[in-house]
Amino acid sequence: MTTLADLLTQRIALAGPMSLAEYMTDCLLHPAHGYYATRDPLGAAGDFTTAPEISQMFGELLGLCLAQTWLDQGAPARFTLAEPGPGRGTLMADIWRATQRVPGFHDAASIHLIEASSVLRDLQAKTLAEAPVTWVEGFDALPDDAPLFLIANEFFDALPIRQFQRAENGWREMVVGLKDNGLAPGLTDAVPLADLEHRLSDTQPGDVVETCAAAGPAMQVISERIAAHGGAAIIIDYGHWRSNGDTFQAVQNHAYADPFKHPGQADLTAHVDFEALARAAPQVKHSALTPQGQLLQALGIEARAARLAQSLSGSAQESHLAAYHRLTDASEMGTLFKALAFVAPDASFPPGFAPFDASQDEA
Ligand code: SAH
Repeated sequence: MTTLADLLTQRIALAGPMSLAEYMTDCLLHPAHGYYATRDPLGAAGDFTTAPEISQMFGELLGLCLAQTWLDQGAPARFTLAEPGPGRGTLMADIWRATQRVPGFHDAASIHLIEASSVLRDLQAKTLAEAPVTWVEGFDALPDDAPLFLIANEFFDALPIRQFQRAENGWREMVVGLKDNGLAPGLTDAVPLADLEHRLSDTQPGDVVETCAAAGPAMQVISERIAAHGGAAIIIDYGHWRSNGDTFQAVQNHAYADPFKHPGQADLTAHVDFEALARAAPQVKHSALTPQGQLLQALGIEARAARLAQSLSGSAQESHLAAYHRLTDASEMGTLFKALAFVAPDASFPPGFAPFDASQDEA
C-alpha cells in the first residue's frame, strides 16, 4: 500500500523541498492519509486529550461566559454561535447544555461549525444531535448578517505554519527535503522578507520565528463580523503573546514523536502566536492574554468543582478533582494554555477577561 511518506518522497524528488506549511497540510488533512481526515485522535485511547474532554466544567463555564456576553450586548434576537475545529463536539455540547436555562439564548442561536475532517463531522453530528447545527466550509461562509459569538479551543495550533531562521542578511526558511531516502528538515538560502520586518528588532541571527498564513484570513472574517454586528470571539490555545523559537511538534500516543518519521500518523502542531491573531483583527479590540487557570477561576470553577464533587464519591470523585487540577494548575494546563477575547471597540469584554495591558507585550 502506498503511504503518505511514499507520496511526499515522490513529490519532493520531482519538485524539490516543500515548505513546512505544505508538509503540515498534507500530514493533517490529506483526504486519504491525513491525520485528522482518517481518525478521531482525541481522548485516552487516542493521541492527545483536550480541556473539554477532560471535564464538562470547561464548556459549562465558557458557555455561561458567552451567554453573559450576549446578555451584556442586549440579548440580540438572532446570532451565530460558531466553533472552528470542534473535535468530538464535546465543548459545544457542554455549552449548549449549560445555556439551556438562559432565557432566549437557545432560540436566538444558530450553531455553525467549521470542520475539515469528515470523521470528526460525523462524530459532531452524533454528539450534537439535539442542537441546531450547520457545518460551513470555512470562515468566509459564516453568516454576515448577525452578531458572531465564536469559540475556538486548540484550533489555531493545528493550522500549518512556516518556520524561518534569522541569518545575518535575511531569513532562511525551514523546508522538508530528502536525506538518506527519508524525509528530513533543511534550510533554504537567506532572503530578506518584508513580512518579518517587524521581528528584526526583537530577534538575533540564529533565532527562529514562525508564521501562520491561514490564521490571518480567519481573524479578518471574525474581526469584520464582530465590528459590523457585535458578538465576541474567545480563542484558547497553548502559546505566547509573541512567537519566538521552534515550537513545531508531533504527538503520538500521548508522547512527543519525530515529526518527520511517520507523516499522517501523528498530530502536528505549533504554539499559537497570539499577537499575530490580534494584528490580523484590526477592527475589534482584544483583551489581555489570560492564562486558562486564571480565566476558569474567575468564571467560578472552584465553586462548580465543589458542587459536582458533592454528587460523586470514590474514584469518580477523585478523577473529577484531578481533572479540576489538570485544567487549572500552573504545572498542568493552567499557565501554558491561554485565552484571548475579541469584542467590538465599544463593547465590554466577556467575564473573566481584562483589557489589554501593553506591559504584557514581552510575556
Ligand atoms: N476543539 C476540539 C478539538 C481540537 S483538535 C477540542 O478542544 O477537543 C483540532 C480540531 O481542528 C479537529 O477537530 C480538527 O479536525 C480541526 N481542524 C484542523 N485543521 C483544520 C482546518 N484547516 N479547518 C477546519 N478544521 C480543522
